[in-house]
Amino acid sequence: ATQEGFDVDEVEGALGEAGHGPLPVLAVVGRPNVGKSTLVNRIIGRREAVVEDRPGVTRDRVTYEAEWAGRRFKVVDTGGWEQDVLGIDASVAAQAEYAIEAADAVVFVVDATVGATDTDEAVVKLLRRAGKPVVLCANKVDGPSSEADAAMLWSLGLGEPMPVSALHGRGTGDMLDEVLKALPEAPAQTFGAALGGPRRIALIGRPNVGKSSLLNKVAGEERVVVNELAGTTRDPVDELIELGGTTWKFVDTAGIRKRVHLQEGADYYASLRTAAAVEKAEVAVILIDASETISVQDQRIITMAVEAGRAMVIAFNKWDNLDEERRYYLEREIETELQQIAWAPRVNVSARTGRHMEKLVPAIETALAGWETRIPTGRLNAFLGELVAAHPHPIRGGKQPRILFGTQAGTKPPRFVLFASGFLEAGYRRFVERRLREEFGFEGTPIHMSVRVRE
Ligand code: GDP
Ligand code: GDP
Repeated sequence: ATQEGFDVDEVEGALGEAGHGPLPVLAVVGRPNVGKSTLVNRIIGRREAVVEDRPGVTRDRVTYEAEWAGRRFKVVDTGGWEQDVLGIDASVAAQAEYAIEAADAVVFVVDATVGATDTDEAVVKLLRRAGKPVVLCANKVDGPSSEADAAMLWSLGLGEPMPVSALHGRGTGDMLDEVLKALPEAPAQTFGAALGGPRRIALIGRPNVGKSSLLNKVAGEERVVVNELAGTTRDPVDELIELGGTTWKFVDTAGIRKRVHLQEGADYYASLRTAAAVEKAEVAVILIDASETISVQDQRIITMAVEAGRAMVIAFNKWDNLDEERRYYLEREIETELQQIAWAPRVNVSARTGRHMEKLVPAIETALAGWETRIPTGRLNAFLGELVAAHPHPIRGGKQPRILFGTQAGTKPPRFVLFASGFLEAGYRRFVERRLREEFGFEGTPIHMSVRVRE
């Protein structure tokens, strides 16, 4: 059977490639100069991504998507953090600790030409305590003559050292095979939901917006269990909290509660945590301090959640702290700064007074419902047919590209594939998205749309 001249294989091929659910997270840790950044570049196959580092500049971007042997995962890059202030040992340990906590598996990189140092031993202790799967990368084994250096690292007690040259690519394939064995198919946190467990919420926002206050407020006496990540870490990473008669899992709350005691690298840690929490959640509640100007950092956090394709609620906190003037300016800022997420439900709350706390759950439920909405193909094409008839694509170079057929390739978030007779301009694609939202809702969720052109 064909749809307007597209064969079924082509349609199904397009369905397979669009978007993804939560991916397992791999952290790459180790001392400075052992070759972590070089290795991360190898793994993600994108040379420019990490190399642009300048000392003293903390990067926004801490996770990258990678694929090996048909499996996708996230790589957490810990190379971006400055180490001067605390001294090497303390800073490497702190960095590794955060990264390990956020990850499902760890690649521990050691410079085989140097051998195991005291700092390496300290990281080994952390790895043991965390109990996460570890692949030991014996780096800088550039040729067969240095294989013996790698073998020396058996002494670390982490199993077989994988001899690798991150610089030349030698051995990285074998190492990645081991990584795939160590990584769960999906993050541990997703198993609960797959079995009908609690929905997963990431409560995120820049420091001091009131995340910890809000968590305390909503948890109150209702905190039912302090949950341990199955058989792995001792840290109470996630918390089960009953709200509105339903139990929800707030992911990565350890990061909210633990005050970041380190000045240096605090931004880096905050981004790392946010990225990891978003990855593990289904819905992100993004807290913004309504009493202050919406900042670049707020925007970055929003972008993270949009890019990860999560359902989303914007909570303006500290509403008790707003005067008339600020309220006036906030409305204008929302119009200009938050246009890209005009579809996200908003709640105006105060973690201090408890104002509008009861509105949080309905907003979350709305966003999750939008995130999971599926439009039957027949209905979608009836809608597209009318849309194309009423608002055809502008004629370009004597031709008029036309949407021939569309299908929803998936949910969480909704993903659409449009098949067209020619290139659809960005403006027209945005118009289609806007009309889709008007017709079908999709409140609280990003929408992915890809276009297949039939040449
Ligand atoms: P990081 O601080 O752990 O991220 O380390 P980098 O990736 O910045 O690497 C530190 C230095 O080691 C750089 O000069 C790299 O070119 C070099 N390097 C990294 N991997 C290898 C390798 O496999 N072999 C050799 N010979 N040098 C390497
Ligand atoms: P976090 O860093 O995002 O976890 O923020 P905290 O929960 O630690 O809050 C930062 C500061 O904001 C603290 O002094 C809180 O008391 C204050 N705060 C939090 N929520 C509110 C609120 O709704 N209203 C007001 N006025 N202050 C708040």
